[in-house]
Amino acid sequence: MQTNFLVIGSGISGLNFALQAAKKGKVVIVTKKKLVDSNTNFAQGGIAAVLDQTDNFEKHIEDTLKTGTYHNNKKAIEFMVKNSADAIYRLIDLGVKFQKENGKLSLTKEGGHSHRRIAFVGDYTGKEIERILVKRVKEHPNITILEDSFALKLLTQKSFLRGKTCVGAQIIRGNKIENIFADQTILSTGGVGQLFLHTTNPPIATGDGIAMASQIGCKIKDMEFIQFHPTALNENTFPKFLISETVRGEGAKLVNEKGERFMSNIHPLKDLAPRDIAAREIYKQQKTSQVFLDIRHKSREYLKKRFPQIYEKLKKLKIDMAKDLIPVTPAAHYECGGIEVDLSGRTNVKNLFAFGEVTCTGVHGANRLASNSLLEALVFSNQVAKNLTSTQAVKKIKIENPKLLKENSKETLLAKKLRQEIKNIMWRYSGIVRNRKKIKKEAIPKMIKIAKYLRKTKGTNQEIAETLNMAQVSLLILKAAYKRRKSIGCHFVEF
Ligand SMILES: Cc1cc2nc3c(=O)[nH]c(=O)nc-3n(C[C@H](O)[C@H](O)[C@H](O)COP(=O)(O)OP(=O)(O)OC[C@H]3O[C@@H](n4cnc5c(N)ncnc54)[C@H](O)[C@@H]3O)c2cc1C
Repeated sequence: MQTNFLVIGSGISGLNFALQAAKKGKVVIVTKKKLVDSNTNFAQGGIAAVLDQTDNFEKHIEDTLKTGTYHNNKKAIEFMVKNSADAIYRLIDLGVKFQKENGKLSLTKEGGHSHRRIAFVGDYTGKEIERILVKRVKEHPNITILEDSFALKLLTQKSFLRGKTCVGAQIIRGNKIENIFADQTILSTGGVGQLFLHTTNPPIATGDGIAMASQIGCKIKDMEFIQFHPTALNENTFPKFLISETVRGEGAKLVNEKGERFMSNIHPLKDLAPRDIAAREIYKQQKTSQVFLDIRHKSREYLKKRFPQIYEKLKKLKIDMAKDLIPVTPAAHYECGGIEVDLSGRTNVKNLFAFGEVTCTGVHGANRLASNSLLEALVFSNQVAKNLTSTQAVKKIKIENPKLLKENSKETLLAKKLRQEIKNIMWRYSGIVRNRKKIKKEAIPKMIKIAKYLRKTKGTNQEIAETLNMAQVSLLILKAAYKRRKSIGCHFVEF
């Protein structure tokens, strides 16, 4: 198969890019499950943007820098913030019905924001955005959709004059291997939450894009900055159900078993302190007490209307948020680092672009400001690289297709076990509080052993390839965490 744009991933960044690119040429979207299976579909809180007359670019830029502990790329933030309102209006034009009051967009607040600037749809903003984008790509005559299609590796060709160029990707589809050639290949494969034992991310978030990109020599940056969300529901659900920060934005307090508001003396923003600070404080409290969110001062009618999804989920678990405390715990949530890209999503490999959580644009620095990720994904994926170059020549490339192993093969069953081990290792050594000595002496050698074993496996399939990707990306995180001696943002070291 041959196309102009091959988009890998169907979250907000992939679908939005596909719609933009389809104005210029043929687009193929491959996605490893169904179109809606993405982190985007799980996003609750909303999208930050400068939409209110009393707000301004400088304040949003400063909040982003402050939360990112000034490790950010200011140019990238400026680019994102200045395009934020347009990005929201574009979604509205596509059909997303953000909440309004008296004809004006309603705006909410989350941790680290000095202003109410988050546009939302109930507590299911991501689901609504995904629904509309899916609808639009399905309608588009220039877009071909391949679901249940797993990108195994990126295809490259090297020439003396042009250096290494990406020419498409190898896909597992319907128990067969296919090679798709493209003028431009786009990674929009999302995050890495599944590398950790406790995460808010759905099963698709196994870091495939970062692994594939690093295999062909892309620059990868800031991988140690994993954001742990402070308030995942402390129940045995998989993934952990998120209690959105907008619940605290609307007045919920963090309390321990004694009913103490322990954030009061920790940060001037108290319960709305940046996520790294809140997550660490909860982690500390949990040594002696359970931690809860308390929003019982709000009426049932208000809670049902403002947080319909959370209200119903808790009700199913026999927690009445109007009467009961909500047990919460931190969980891996967001990768601030990723594939290094410029403002057009360009990687250092020719004809390979990346958008969304898989990238490091520099916007988030050492810690992401809440509700900036959907915005980043949207603003950057509005960029469609100009000057398409044809890939006709690549038809001559000889590509070896690996042998596909059965799902019940002993290699696959072992990969499943190793996946669990990776999650345990990453939670233990690369979690909220890290110990560099232990990372070097214990975690890295264990992970190298797992990666080596998986690499030696003769043949592959999605389970094995994903697990190998997870091991490779874990190594990138562990090595970066070991290298960074001092605590900064969401990287916190004991000594
Ligand atoms: C519970 C939760 C709540 C959140 N709330 C908010 C919020 O309120 N505001 C905010 O700004 N951000 C929020 N986020 C973060 C935000 O949702 C994500 O950062 C964003 O949606 C990422 O979009 P994306 O397009 O980069 O990736 P995703 O939406 O994760 O999409 C990735 C796509 O790539 C596909 N894929 C991956 N690997 C392969 C492969 N090898 N082959 C083929 N396809 C592949 C996946 O199947 C998926 O379709 C939240 C995240 C979670 C988990």
